[in-house]
Amino acid sequence: MGKIQKLETLTALQIAAGEVIDRPAAVVREILENSIDAGASQIKIELFNGGVQKIILTDNGCGIAKEDLELSVERHATSKIQKITDLNDLTTLGFRGEALASIAAVARLCITSKPIEQEVAWQIKTDGLNRHQSSPSSGLEGTRIEVEDLFYLTPARRKFLKKANTEYTKVDAIIKKISLANLSFNLVFSNDNKIVRKIPLATSLKDAKDRIAAILGHDFSDQLYFGESELPEIRKIQAWIAHPKFSRARSDLQFIVLNNRVIKDPAISNAIKRAFEDVMMIGRYPALVLYLTIDPSIIDFNVHPTKEQVKFQDPQLITRAIVKFLKQHIQEILSIKSSIHESLMQETPSMDFQNIQSMSPTKVSRPQENISYNQLSPKPEESTHDMLGNTYQATSYKSPFVELSSPKPPLPQVSNNLDDSQNSFSLGVAIYHLSNRYILSETKDGLIVVDAHAAHERIVYERMKLEYNDQGVACQNLILPITIQLDDIQIKHCLEYQIIFEQFGFSFTLDQSILSITGIPKVLGEINSEELFIDVLTEVIQDSESHLINQKVDKILATLACHRSVRSMRELSIQEMNELLRQIESTDLANVCNHGRPTWIKMDLKQIDHLFHRT
Ligand code: ADP
Ligand code: MG
Repeated sequence: MGKIQKLETLTALQIAAGEVIDRPAAVVREILENSIDAGASQIKIELFNGGVQKIILTDNGCGIAKEDLELSVERHATSKIQKITDLNDLTTLGFRGEALASIAAVARLCITSKPIEQEVAWQIKTDGLNRHQSSPSSGLEGTRIEVEDLFYLTPARRKFLKKANTEYTKVDAIIKKISLANLSFNLVFSNDNKIVRKIPLATSLKDAKDRIAAILGHDFSDQLYFGESELPEIRKIQAWIAHPKFSRARSDLQFIVLNNRVIKDPAISNAIKRAFEDVMMIGRYPALVLYLTIDPSIIDFNVHPTKEQVKFQDPQLITRAIVKFLKQHIQEILSIKSSIHESLMQETPSMDFQNIQSMSPTKVSRPQENISYNQLSPKPEESTHDMLGNTYQATSYKSPFVELSSPKPPLPQVSNNLDDSQNSFSLGVAIYHLSNRYILSETKDGLIVVDAHAAHERIVYERMKLEYNDQGVACQNLILPITIQLDDIQIKHCLEYQIIFEQFGFSFTLDQSILSITGIPKVLGEINSEELFIDVLTEVIQDSESHLINQKVDKILATLACHRSVRSMRELSIQEMNELLRQIESTDLANVCNHGRPTWIKMDLKQIDHLFHRT
């Protein structure tokens, strides 16, 4: 090691710039965010050779005054904050005053800008540390940023760039993210002189959906339901949630937008996972865009150079609210009524307009006030007030849909022909048990096929969840206790978690290494109690810390429900089938099984006619 020396200014700048600007996509992120901060409603981005050769952004924002031009490219120069406490009510995307300086340190930069009150545009060019004096120039109102020859001074860095096409894809991904999080501008994006994306600005819910379609495609946007809740704990949650049947193999269609920024947050991702656990197959990911509006004073964006990660004062408060919100909306999306409507809408294209009108806002669901709490959440009173002693400050920060979301779209109305006569239940009247597996049921306008086993499993599961939350799963005493020989570890856990077992509907006594099961969950009826108990015990041993067990309640209940499968093995009487149909109708989430598969499908008469070429 040599002597300590102070780095040359340019070297120091380039090192610092490396944190912010590592590729063309980072340049685009910074200059696009600047345009949004400048209030632009029209933005054009042009990319050449993946952005390495040139990136040009043109906006119609407020512009930079000629006397500020030179300062705008200096480090730590910003018009957005003055002191650190300004971060508490930050309403802009930028605040570090580093982006333009960083870009200037690693590329040739030319800024031309004209605020409305200035007569002509002015321009500044930079080249390494050289700042050419600003001078008048031709240019329209707004700002034009040209970034050329990225990393021309740092060839080593340039080598890390990928092929032009890969860089273009990364730029596109950034544009998509930022445009999901901010809705107030039209954007045209071109790559090597070809327009590749046009994103319309959004001022209504319908526009917002069109914008999502332009960003993430129609396949996704066609599946979306909108929901929102005002929450005293965190202000507001809004979400576009895809129907759970539209799941993904990766979490690539999950976006978390926090106060106009797409963020990554493992705790929130996990909350999303938990909320969908009951309706999603293992290994599948739900698709949604989640908008959180949270008081800036209880979050810290200043923990990550690109502000992709944030710190929450009380992360659990936020994740609990998200789980509760999502569960409520999933339930609504999957409610029997909306599913019936959906199948009617999809399967009978010839329906008259009047009818479709009354049903089509289905994809915009309204928050329900009275929902049952997730058993792991505290009661609302515990979390609604007093954010660690902070009171809310009204800042000018607005949620993306503040203006867009009122008036609230109506909840879908149930069409009369299904409900008017008292024998027309949503799921109809049972007519046959096919192969001891499927219930065929006749409705006024078609045929319903029910997977009896899957539906029953869900009913048992939901019932146990309710019981568990109430006073614990009801226990039924066995006439003859069942005895099992256990090993030391098993005994230890049985003793330690006896109360938890009781909560799950078991009762037992222990005599040295012999366990006698004296009661099992009532709702399960006749089952192999020994196997069931061992399964639950194994789950408990795997995560033998009580807080982990708390998180696994649903999983253990699902294990229990799964054991209750006997019923599907034998033929059901018409009466039993009808009982099951009525239970499905009255059970939350009963039209998907615990793994997210549908429990019933509907074939409309019109659809059947169509199969036989009758019109
Ligand atoms: P920051 O955004 O953190 O303030 P930047 O280096 O990105 O820092 O920008 C420096 C300043 O230049 C901004 O504070 C803003 O005043 C001005 N500026 C940059 N881009 C634009 C633009 N497109 N329109 C108007 N002003 C801009
Ligand atoms: Mg900036």
